[in-house]
This record gives sequence, C-alpha cells and structure tokens, in this order.
Amino acid sequence: MKVTDHISQAKDTLISFEVLPPLKGKGIEALYKHLDPLMEFKPSFINVTYHRSEHVFKKKADGNFEKVVVRKRPGTESICGAIMNKYNVDTVPHLICGGFSINETEDALINLRYLGIDNVLVLRGDAAKNETAFEPEPGGHKFASDLLKQVVNLNAGIYLEDELKGTHKTDFCVGVAGYPEKHFEAPNMDTDMQYLKQKVDLGADYIITQMFFDNAKFHAFVKSCRDIGINVPIIPGLKPIYSKKQLTVLPKTFHIDLPPDLSNEVLRCKTDEDVEKVGAEWLLMQSRELKKAGVPVLHYYTLGRPLLVAGVVKEI
Ligand code: FAD
Repeated sequence: MKVTDHISQAKDTLISFEVLPPLKGKGIEALYKHLDPLMEFKPSFINVTYHRSEHVFKKKADGNFEKVVVRKRPGTESICGAIMNKYNVDTVPHLICGGFSINETEDALINLRYLGIDNVLVLRGDAAKNETAFEPEPGGHKFASDLLKQVVNLNAGIYLEDELKGTHKTDFCVGVAGYPEKHFEAPNMDTDMQYLKQKVDLGADYIITQMFFDNAKFHAFVKSCRDIGINVPIIPGLKPIYSKKQLTVLPKTFHIDLPPDLSNEVLRCKTDEDVEKVGAEWLLMQSRELKKAGVPVLHYYTLGRPLLVAGVVKEI
C-alpha cells in the first residue's frame, strides 16, 4: 500500500521507522533483531536507506596501495522484499542518483515492482567519500528532481526505450527529502524551498524531513511550504540522542543545530545511560508535541537504538 494511502485512511498520527541494511557479512538476522522490538507498534511502513559504493585504498603485501570499490551495506531492494515478507508491512526503499546510470535506475525500479513494492523515496545522495562535491554518474542524474522525473515517467509507461512506451505502467508513490534547517549546499532557505516545490510540482507525493531537534523549526518549515503552495503531506524525521559524541557529529554530518537546552543537559550527563535518558525524554517531548499538532506520521531514524525508540513510542 502507498504511503499516501496510509495517511489518507488514518484516523490518528501513524508511526514509521527507518533502518539501514546490515553491514556486509552480518546477515539479515541482525536487521530482524533490530526490527523485532519495533513491530509491536504496527508501523505503517519501514524505510530502508541506500548506501552507494565507495573507493578505498587498500595496502597490498608489497606495501603499495590499490584502489578498490567496496559497498558496505548492499541489498536495499531485496531487504525491502524480505521485510515485507517476514512482517507483512509496507516498505520504502531509498533510491539515489549517485552511483547509478539511468539504465540501472530503470532496472532497479522494475525490480521493485516485481517485489510488489509501491513506494520509493528519491534522493540525490551525498558526495562519495573520495569526492569533494557530489558528482553524478556518467549518464546518471544530477538532482533528486531528475530521478523523480524518471519515476514519474515510468508511472506513465514511458521507458528509456521508445518502443516500450505505453506497455506496463508502474504505480509508485514517491517521497522526497525536505530540510527544515536548509540543505547545506543551498545558498539560502528561499532557494532551497523553490527546489523543493519543483520536486512537488514534478509529482512528489509527500516529503520526509531531515532530522531536527527543535519542533519550532519544523512548524516554520511546514508554514513556509504551505505559503509557497506545497500542499503534500510533510512527515517529520526524528532521531534519538544517545551519546555525547553526537553533539558534534550530528551538526557536522547533517548540518543541523541542537537547541542549547538539549546540548547543555547532555553535557551535564556523567554516563552514557544518563545521555540515553535525556535523549529519550527529548524525543518523547518532541513526539508528543508533533502528534498534538496533527502531523500525519512520526518517522523515526532508529539507527542502532531500536530499544530506545521503542521505549519512546510506547509512551506517546
Ligand atoms: P536534491 O533535492 O537534489 O537537492 C540537493 C541540493 O541541490 C540542494 O541544495 C537543493 O537546494 C539543490 N537543488 C535541487 N534541485 C536543483 C536544481 N534543479 N538546480 C540547482 N540546485 C538544485 N542519502 C543516501 O545516500 N542514502 C539514503 O538512503 C538517504 N536517505 C535520506 C533520507 C532523508 C529523509 C533525508 C532528508 C536525506 C537522506 N539522504 C540519503 C541524504 C541526501 O541524499 C542528501 O541530503 C543529499 O545531499 C541531498 O539529497 P536531496 O534528495 O535532498 O537532493
């Protein structure tokens, strides 16, 4: 079922989770162990992130280095199929521009349909570790909006090969990313919002936001969206704080701010358990307020802390 159908049929705020594919070599059981404690909350859908290949330099026996391609977390599409099969829940694979040619993207979309998957979250992806700025694959997409156009075309039966036009149409519900605190490359919030509107005008069905820790920023973002005519559902993305290290890692990696009330409280903590408690209370406070404000879905980035998230969702 499509994310937008879940939302339109819901009588209350829904719950969804986001997980990463397991590290190569860990097996899918690691992911099931992560998801098991979350399934009692009957999530409407589960997102699975996409991780592109990286170039790394490995030292050889002779002391020289060789450049090798590694993909640490493969399997997004098939993991979505496996989760659907095991838990009977809808899944949302993330699909990115980086590392894909348009032909590979078309094949990935066809595979997803064969698996019975109705949803995709289309993203540009970040620069690869060896790049200073995002570089599209030769013959690949530059922006999420270009990838979105390809999905919308396939939904209209328009394939890359002209002679297939009007054959089987896909029917994906398409989500895109939004940034309550601005995407870090955008020159200003207004420009970023115009590009977000472009994605919606091209056919995006809903928006999931980057994590934020100050609900006022989310509400201001929703208002700006509505003011410029973005009327699709906007789903807040929420993440727990569980270590002091996150105070520096999260702003650096995701280009977001942590409110001083939260960072000061974390700094006062003596143990990791204390930080988890502060993080859980903050997440609960954010979740309750957002639910009261009538958000369609509370979407949790569960990454590595399913039990913390489960404890919060139980209390909402
Ligand atoms: P875009 O919408 O393409 O925007 C990128 C930048 O370009 C922005 O600054 C925007 O303002 C600008 N821009 C957009 N369109 C144009 C245009 N036509 N001309 C000029 N400028 C333009 N990354 C992964 O690798 N895998 C994942 O699974 C993943 N999941 C994510 C889930 C969520 C909910 C979010 C918020 C992010 C996720 N990311 C993921 C990270 C994401 O790929 C990065 O934030 C990336 O830098 C931008 O992706 P985007 O889809 O927002 O890009």
